[in-house]
Amino acid sequence: MSATWSSSGRVSPASRPPGACACAPPAPRRSCSRRARASGGAYTYTPMGAEDARAELARPLEDALFFAGEATNADGHAATVHGAIETGYRAAGQLGDALIQ
Ligand SMILES: Cc1cc2nc3c(=O)[nH]c(=O)nc-3n(C[C@H](O)[C@H](O)[C@H](O)COP(=O)(O)OP(=O)(O)OC[C@H]3O[C@@H](n4cnc5c(N)ncnc54)[C@H](O)[C@@H]3O)c2cc1C
Repeated sequence: MSATWSSSGRVSPASRPPGACACAPPAPRRSCSRRARASGGAYTYTPMGAEDARAELARPLEDALFFAGEATNADGHAATVHGAIETGYRAAGQLGDALIQ
């Protein structure tokens, strides 16, 4: 899914492609860890109305592209290192399953 980002870091709902994830938050914020030297990084949070977004982010594309990272953890451990590691194991398992089929 692509989106148009403004210089403020906000995404315009109008830029969401037709048929794109309906659970996409209307105005997500993003942080660039290369520029945010004070914090050294960022992690996601779930605003009201976007409860399905993590599962959507974790959904593989055509059994060929698999996603990991804390933002894709829908099991309650998002925004943590251990949550990110869990998703790495999940994505590796999905890849293994796809190779076996
Ligand atoms: C200030 C702060 C404190 C935190 N404290 C804790 C804590 O105490 N305990 C805890 O469990 N969690 C903590 N976290 C959260 C934890 O750091 C993250 O949840 C975890 O690092 C997420 O791992 P990740 O692999 O999903 O993403 P990241 O660790 O962000 O890794 C993503 C990587 O992708 C790279 N990347 C980005 N774009 C591209 C690109 N286009 N091409 C190639 N590479 C790219 C980035 O450089 C980065 O190395 C903290 C986070 C912050 C910001």
